[in-house]
Amino acid sequence: MSVPGFAATAASVIGGVILATLLGAAIGQTLLCLSLAALIAAAVLLVRVHRLGVAVENSRFIPDARYERLRLRSRRLSLQLRDLRNAAAALPDAAVLLDGEGRIRWFNHASEDLLGLRRPQDRGTLLIERLRESTLGPWLESGAEKPLNDVPAPNRPALRLGMVMMPFGHHQRLMLGRDISDLMRLEQVRQDFVANVSHELRTPLTVIHGYLELLDPEDQPELAPVIAEMRVQSERMGQIVEDLLMLSRLETHQPLQEEHVAMRPLLATLRKEALALSHGRHHIELQERTDTDLYGSVRELHSAFSNLVSNAVRYTPTQGRITLIWERTDEGARFTVEDTGYGIPANHLARLTERFYRVSSSRSRDTGGTGLGLSIVKHVLNRHQAQLHIESEPGHGSRFSCRFGSMRLLKPIRLDA
Ligand code: ADP
Repeated sequence: MSVPGFAATAASVIGGVILATLLGAAIGQTLLCLSLAALIAAAVLLVRVHRLGVAVENSRFIPDARYERLRLRSRRLSLQLRDLRNAAAALPDAAVLLDGEGRIRWFNHASEDLLGLRRPQDRGTLLIERLRESTLGPWLESGAEKPLNDVPAPNRPALRLGMVMMPFGHHQRLMLGRDISDLMRLEQVRQDFVANVSHELRTPLTVIHGYLELLDPEDQPELAPVIAEMRVQSERMGQIVEDLLMLSRLETHQPLQEEHVAMRPLLATLRKEALALSHGRHHIELQERTDTDLYGSVRELHSAFSNLVSNAVRYTPTQGRITLIWERTDEGARFTVEDTGYGIPANHLARLTERFYRVSSSRSRDTGGTGLGLSIVKHVLNRHQAQLHIESEPGHGSRFSCRFGSMRLLKPIRLDA
């Protein structure tokens, strides 16, 4: 109890005793006076003790208990934090924590092994300065917004890394680098297998196709439907093999054979191809809204664009309209194939560029499809840093656009120059 509190209590007790004594004296009963005085004093003390208990509860003993609870909690949290740090330090993936300015705040052991970071000297340095000359330099300089796949590890060039940069907290970032060498080796085995099988199938198919051409259905009319079907199927198989070989070539990461791609003659060829495939069943229009040319591989671009044109013809019923458009955009230029065909339900759109993915297998086969066309388109566009955009409405038609950045645009070559 505090000194003023005690003084007040004592004063109350003495006051009570005097009051009771005076009262008792007044009525002339001393014993009763003393008992009354004792009762008043006890009552005053009880009230005081109760008040003291409440005060103590509010100010002294309970905060101590809270402090103890907080202390235990903070101990538990720092243990958890230590466990988390130990786990992150032991991760096989490189993990680097960056502050708002891009300075290295923390990194784990795998970052030393894979990225070549050194402690303590690299702590606090700018990551971009530290790794500018490494294989990650261009990616970091471009802002590292998109994940980077299959890049040699700066400190272990024989290993391949998959990199990702994730923002978190208050302008902080976490850079993760995973060793994907095994995955890339498996991918290589898959690519080689497909390329070898396709290549091996090519020769026997050419022989079968050649002999089928020699067979004249008129010599054996009863076999005519069989021969016709065998020709169709051998042609289909030949097309699948050619498409697989094309995909294998695109995947080998061979440098792009870049040249000036004159768009006017290419667009004219595409229109002719569409007319030939359509056999007059569709209304086909070419809208050349710009004379801009492209910088890239004529062969690959022709293959990609003609896949889109052939799809539009194959998936648009007779009397439908097909429009080829070449135009400038804010970002660069766009080649679009629009049709008024069957359209594609929204749930299929994301998977269309997967190999052998078809919305309707029977419709694809009946029209001579291989299921590889859009996969080829995607690969070719990737190699030209371009993107494929697909919009479609079932029953109304589809729009496939190839969007090129301005760095791929060239002024047309003037023949009189
Ligand atoms: P396919 O050889 O089967 O046409 P693609 O890879 O070219 O293979 O296309 C994949 C699938 O996307 C096709 O099977 C078809 O279902 C759908 N598709 C492609 N283009 C169109 C289009 N213009 N209209 C409707 N569906 C289309």
